[in-house]
Amino acid sequence: MIKYKTREEIEIMREAAQVVSRTLGKVAEAIEEGVTPLELDAIAEAYIRSENAIPGFLGLYDFPNTLCISINEQVVHGIPTNEPIKDGDIVSVDCGAIFEGYYGDHAYTFGVGNVSPEVQKLLKVTQECLDIGIAQTRAGNRIGDIGFYIQQHAEKHGYGVVRELVGHGLGTTMHEEPQVPNFGRRGRGKKIQEGLTIAIEPMINLGTERVKYLKDNWTIVTSDLKPSAHFEHDVAVVDGKPDVLSTFDFVHQALAKKEGRVF
Ligand code: MG
Ligand code: MG
Repeated sequence: MIKYKTREEIEIMREAAQVVSRTLGKVAEAIEEGVTPLELDAIAEAYIRSENAIPGFLGLYDFPNTLCISINEQVVHGIPTNEPIKDGDIVSVDCGAIFEGYYGDHAYTFGVGNVSPEVQKLLKVTQECLDIGIAQTRAGNRIGDIGFYIQQHAEKHGYGVVRELVGHGLGTTMHEEPQVPNFGRRGRGKKIQEGLTIAIEPMINLGTERVKYLKDNWTIVTSDLKPSAHFEHDVAVVDGKPDVLSTFDFVHQALAKKEGRVF
């Protein structure tokens, strides 16, 4: 059953999403060649707790950390390691936080140093897929419309759309109904209504859509080991229209500041 939210609940969810947005901003400040995923994880956990929030992934389904950090061919659910990030890596950072009982869940894929133009384009198109999905999140549309247009845009560029993992309803639990696939058929699925709150999260592969699990039973990688990108926003339907509860503003500000330092 889909749990539609009141305006009051949506405002709390906005605060939860903004905690995660600011956390990703802290990660953006710190991420560079030589930093380890575990160092980023520690920064994120400390920041979330400083906001009187709780890391949303830590312990969820027994996940051991605050962040899922998935590098290059890793699609999602990567466990942070001590292996330093390298020049040219793309690093998906997925973060959850619980604030006043509600979840925020939000992800950004960072390009570190000299990322090849081919992979930079994958990052750009995956962000476009997210924006296209958000634009479809309107009362009267159907859940299938979101996936249909995301898939169409990704496949237009020859990319693979992951089938095994999907976006989801969000609220007092991390994964609520409905599932929000990044593929599908126009006009199919549940009708989108006022108060719907979902996490939209295209996972787009440079090559094949096929994926497999690593031996840790968490990390998912592309079958052809080509890179994969992942961007996620939390979206509510307010006055019939998409209201994006999370923001990449803190990430963009941090990255712009860093570029300013380089030049
Ligand atoms: Mg997420
Ligand atoms: Mg999610």
